[in-house]
Amino acid sequence: MPRLCIEVQGVVQGVGFRPSVYRLALAHGLTGAVWNHARGVTIEAQGGATSLEAFLRAIQTDIPPPARVANLACVDLPEDPQAEGFRILASDEGGDIRPVVPPDLAICPACAEETDTPGERRYRYPFTNCTYCGPRYSIIASLPYDRPHTSMQAFPMCPACRREYSDPLDRRFHAQPIACPVCGPHLTLRRLDGGSLSEGEDALHEAVVALQEGRVVAIKGLGGFQLLVDATSAEAVRRLRDRKRREEKPFAVMFPDMASLAAACELGEAERALLASPEAPILLVRRRPGAQVTEGIAPGNPRLGAFLPYTPLHRLLLALVDRPLVCTSGNLSEEPMAFEDDEALRRLGTLADVFLTHNRPILRPVDDSVMRVDGDGPTLLRRARGFTPLAVAVAGFKGAPTVLAFGAHQKATVSLLHQGQLVMSQHLGDLMSLQGADLLARTVEDLLDFFGVQPDRLACDLHPDYASTRLAERLSNEWDLPLLRVQHHHAHGAACMAEHGLKGPATALAWDGTGLGSDGTLWGGEALAIKGDRFERVGHLRPFPLPGGEAAVREPRRSACGLLWSLRGSGSPPPTLAPAFDGPEWNLLQSMLAKGLHSPVTSSIGRLFDAVAALTSLHARHGFEGQAAMALEFAAGDRVESPYAWDLKAGMANPSLLLEGVLSDLAAGQDVAFIAARFHTSLADLALAWTELSGLPDVVLSGGCFQNARLTGLVQAKLTDAGFRVHRHRTFPPNDGCISLGQAVVAALG
Ligand code: ZN
Ligand code: ZN
Ligand code: FE
Repeated sequence: MPRLCIEVQGVVQGVGFRPSVYRLALAHGLTGAVWNHARGVTIEAQGGATSLEAFLRAIQTDIPPPARVANLACVDLPEDPQAEGFRILASDEGGDIRPVVPPDLAICPACAEETDTPGERRYRYPFTNCTYCGPRYSIIASLPYDRPHTSMQAFPMCPACRREYSDPLDRRFHAQPIACPVCGPHLTLRRLDGGSLSEGEDALHEAVVALQEGRVVAIKGLGGFQLLVDATSAEAVRRLRDRKRREEKPFAVMFPDMASLAAACELGEAERALLASPEAPILLVRRRPGAQVTEGIAPGNPRLGAFLPYTPLHRLLLALVDRPLVCTSGNLSEEPMAFEDDEALRRLGTLADVFLTHNRPILRPVDDSVMRVDGDGPTLLRRARGFTPLAVAVAGFKGAPTVLAFGAHQKATVSLLHQGQLVMSQHLGDLMSLQGADLLARTVEDLLDFFGVQPDRLACDLHPDYASTRLAERLSNEWDLPLLRVQHHHAHGAACMAEHGLKGPATALAWDGTGLGSDGTLWGGEALAIKGDRFERVGHLRPFPLPGGEAAVREPRRSACGLLWSLRGSGSPPPTLAPAFDGPEWNLLQSMLAKGLHSPVTSSIGRLFDAVAALTSLHARHGFEGQAAMALEFAAGDRVESPYAWDLKAGMANPSLLLEGVLSDLAAGQDVAFIAARFHTSLADLALAWTELSGLPDVVLSGGCFQNARLTGLVQAKLTDAGFRVHRHRTFPPNDGCISLGQAVVAALG
């Protein structure tokens, strides 16, 4: 009888893979064993040839949803005539154990059905989970991943749960967070002073009434507190915006089920699959006209950040409320999300009316992930729940030094590159606040403790004032480790290259808001030729001044003023821009520019977007970063128009012709959609001009500007048509969330 040794790699640990192998082996009448080890899972199986063949197919397809077989190799073994039964062996603990920690996963179909079925032990139980689903990373204190090392250690299993936990044929075999109404956590509804209002099912029902009455409910979700409010009520949404001090930035909306989501938004196959996946991200989808959500959710935005309930608690709540709910991180604008009860009561007391909480502690905050699907696949815009802390293999870095990289200042992440594997922290938000900087420091410590890894070197941004840079400098001193400073756009390009296994040379189009350049000016419209830890600046936008510096990020009119000044000198604002300035504001900025006061120059394409949006009166004054660029993207829609010309000398692109073109179109009364479409085509032209100048066959696209689906699609098509190989971010975000990855690979090579 044939006997095989099968080596399996992929997402195969902590996701119920071994028990399913066990079940499949029994079903196919095989003998042998299965065990975990550092590199994956090994199976020894003996049986009839056809049974073995069927078994090999089944272990790739008939496995729990979160499990993924990436690699499968078989070797023939001599027959064992004494073989009997099939066993799950304890992990092989020899060698260099590289722990594989599973991410937090959405409730699986089996658990969903169980909580929906009267008479089941876990009927309507908000903390139902199994080996295929539920909390992981957010509740694990330390490794190995066993119950005593999780925040479930305070809940001794009842006999029924213990039975399921110990039965290899049960889907809760070794499910560490296993719980039931008898032994597990329970809900409490709290007042703002922390006092308990009600417990269990009553708490749920009272929270539902509060939501139906338009009140703001803070709930303790999987990876942190969230603020919920009725998404169909304009008044309720406005109340949340006022309290959260978040004027126009879109809110994500959770729908009760796929049917209600599909009624409100256009969904393709890929989008449906992602929404229902174990990662269950917030997905940016097209809103249908007349969708049952109030305009104030995402003003002027044709897309909606939509998602489905991903815990039993969310499912129960949404089913009772029976309408879409705004579901946003529990924080004040720009602060990190609250995840501990006391902290939430303190920090969210002015935001929420009531707290729906529970007694299962969250040990680290994990925000919701955000994705979008374009014509040719998904883009991850925020990488957190469902993905963190999965390690991603980075080709060519097996023997490289271990690097801890501290990232940028916004959309912060920390990365650990170790033996060719990259672990990126969850999205940590912005570091402007003290809480943000504190979260960064805690995450660094946590990541190293968790994986038991000591870095050989550290990496950070060139910018001296980023909280991430300051922390890296301090730890470099404390730990006596070398610190490498990586230029921001070099890191962008290197990140996208690493994602696609490119060593370079490759052209990187790194277009974003701003990052500090090697020459001390603010960069952001760059074409770099990158090879390993070196780069050459092949092309860039001709720098223009930003009166007020950082203030320009939130006031596109400043970018317009600076751009006009640099190309035309002083003068009065064009008619479409004039209303954006009150009284002496314009003249004040002009005199700042004339004196060179607080007006750093930038080559940023993000700021060029801002300038054009302000000139076309789309968005000129206060707002959130990227709002103006989004308005231009949406205005362009699917229109394709002829480009404005560029004046390109030795790689430096002077936007004067583009600006003159925009102004003359405005003077001729052309509509904004036309101008926005021309502007996008012009940028695709510029991308091609720089790529041809650089002359390398591989091109990577990185930076916040490539969150713009319209721009990315145009650039990709144009470069591909011209014969270049274009690579986009897929596994990591194109925005500053990828910077820590880029820093890590550059520093490992340096
Ligand atoms: Zn489950
Ligand atoms: Zn129990
Ligand atoms: Fe950036």
